Amino acid sequence: MPRKKKITSSSVECPVCNSKNVGRIKPNQYFCRECYSELDVKKGKINVYAITADGGLKDVDKSA
Ligand SMILES: [Zn+2]
Repeated sequence: MPRKKKITSSSVECPVCNSKNVGRIKPNQYFCRECYSELDVKKGKINVYAITADGGLKDVDKSA
């Protein structure tokens, strides 16, 4: 059984552009400097939000 990878600020990869140029905003919130997506980490899952032109957040659901 593969061990679950612990998500830390140094191991967070942007699921949108696969960049590791990700900075931490809050304990469970990260920001991709490459595609300007906000990454919300919950229980090892990364939810992606796009920041809109007016500064709001848009829920990005790739499966939809
Ligand atoms: Zn990105």
